[in-house]
Amino acid sequence: MSDTLAMLVVTAALSAMMLAIVWSLRRCGQPGVTLWWQANLIATPALVLIALRGKIPDALSIVVANAGLSWALALFLAATLRFCGREPNWRALAVGTLATVAGIATWRYVFNDFNTRVVIASAFNATLCALVGIALVRHRPRGRPSSHYLTTAGFAFIFAGGHALRGLLSALSVMDDPATLTAPGLNLAFLIVGALVTPALTMGAVLMIHDAMVRRLEAIANTDFLTGAMSRMAFEEEAGRELARAARGGRPPVLLIVDIDHFKSVNDTFGHAAGDAVLAEFSRLAAASLRTPDRIGRMGGEEFVVLLPGSAQGEASHAAERIRAQAQANRVTGPFGTVRYTVSGGYAEWQPGETLAQLTARADTALYMAKLSGRNRMLAYTTPAGAGAGTPAAAGVPSVQR
Ligand code: GH3
Ligand code: MG
Ligand code: MG
Repeated sequence: MSDTLAMLVVTAALSAMMLAIVWSLRRCGQPGVTLWWQANLIATPALVLIALRGKIPDALSIVVANAGLSWALALFLAATLRFCGREPNWRALAVGTLATVAGIATWRYVFNDFNTRVVIASAFNATLCALVGIALVRHRPRGRPSSHYLTTAGFAFIFAGGHALRGLLSALSVMDDPATLTAPGLNLAFLIVGALVTPALTMGAVLMIHDAMVRRLEAIANTDFLTGAMSRMAFEEEAGRELARAARGGRPPVLLIVDIDHFKSVNDTFGHAAGDAVLAEFSRLAAASLRTPDRIGRMGGEEFVVLLPGSAQGEASHAAERIRAQAQANRVTGPFGTVRYTVSGGYAEWQPGETLAQLTARADTALYMAKLSGRNRMLAYTTPAGAGAGTPAAAGVPSVQR
């Protein structure tokens, strides 16, 4: 077996391995995976056909093999676009591939000119690779690391450049026809690089799929499904980081716990679906009323917790009162009717040395007092001068009895 043939067989084997890897990811729910798999399914036998050039009819090793490689790349581009949330232009991909195949067949059976065949195939393949790169750069995720996208785009641009250079050198008739694939030369090097395109780009695709899956699972774990607020776990992690920042000398955060009043009776009167709608609506309202650095999480049931980093007690009292007033004015309507509700809350400012559990306990005490003193109010936990223990003080609702 010649070196070239051996390398082509290895590339085909690599493509087959990529096929198995993408197959294992087919149920991951990411768009484009099926098309990536189909691209490798077509590229693998096409590479085998190219490796067999001279041993099988040219119709298979030239026309069918090039058709397969070009269509595999077209599928790869379609998969990439789907993955990026775009719908591929199938008509353009099909017309481009058919035109390429027609050109290759013409310059094999009518004119039999090797260089022109290479120019035609290279032009189409270079365009497809460049479009893959452009799609990945344009639609890479913003606001989080996108190195997998840029690496794959880099591969795509390098391959586009390789195809373009091969086409250019062929147009200038610089390269010889390898004929039986045994002659060494520049053309054979390009052939090998061209054969590596699908497996190499697929490796990049697999990295992007894994990245997307991890992000999706992170989002599921960090978000409360019903309300869209942070999950308790994510909130506590974030709050822990904020307390650590405050301990290093930052402004102390305020923690506010909000509980919907008489929520059980909402469920009992209007049904569970109405209760769910109230939870979702309240969460949306409260989140919309907060500043960018503020965080809202669902502690469980109808209890929410809000972290107000770097807020003085006075600012926190305004934020809390805004939430309370918006909840009171809110009307949640649906097939169940119209539900009105109120909320109560308690908040406390972090004190140096305090753990999140201790801060939460103080805010909870204030919440308890808000419930005891009539609900529909937000109370601050304050430590009276000279006293070791704190007492809740009214905020925003002047009628609070203490
Ligand atoms: P209070 O004013 O003292 O807070 O009274 P409450 O009725 O709001 O509080 P209680 O703890 O007695 O009842 C909370 C109810 O919340 C009981 C539970 O069935 C309901 N609940 C908890 N999670 C959900 C949920 O996800 N959806 C719905 N619809 N109800 C929930
Ligand atoms: Mg409640
Ligand atoms: Mg409760």
